[in-house]
Amino acid sequence: MESHYCRSSSSKNYLLPEWTSKEELYRFYKTDWCQRKYIKSLSITSFNKAFESKNMALFSPKKDQCEICEKYKNGFIGEEQYNAHILNKNEARAEKQKDVENEKFVFSVDLQAVLMSPKSNVSSLYYKTKLCVHNLCFYNMLNKDGYCFLWHEGEGGLTAEEFSSCFYSFLETKVIPAMEIR
Ligand SMILES: [Zn+2]
Repeated sequence: MESHYCRSSSSKNYLLPEWTSKEELYRFYKTDWCQRKYIKSLSITSFNKAFESKNMALFSPKKDQCEICEKYKNGFIGEEQYNAHILNKNEARAEKQKDVENEKFVFSVDLQAVLMSPKSNVSSLYYKTKLCVHNLCFYNMLNKDGYCFLWHEGEGGLTAEEFSSCFYSFLETKVIPAMEIR
């Protein structure tokens, strides 16, 4: 899949998250793919070279790590920048708390890392191309209700249009009717 489907801004193409290391991918290639196609396998060095020359990379779905915290942990940014970031974070948390206490509706919204359909860990069910599926979740922080908007790449991508449609539909069907009841 292209990098924009996995929240990355590089120009590389990413494999499915089913392989977490190059060794694992090579093992699949050698013992599964090559055998099924009756092809003599490359050495791991040649395989890696070929893999890189095709501008491909493994996709490791990251837990929702904060980029700035990660940079600080790895020494890419200094103390000052990090402290300012933490200060901002605390402010945001305080704002959120204030909202939860004072507002009638408070939602957090997040897009899940891209899903692939069909999903299977069985390598014989390997498909050259899978369907990218997106899941945008709205979470009501007051009553803990959750709502998911699920669509696949045939229905839409990840542009402002899809997001505004979800927000619009959510407001129209879930928020406005609930406002009228109160
Ligand atoms: Zn952070």
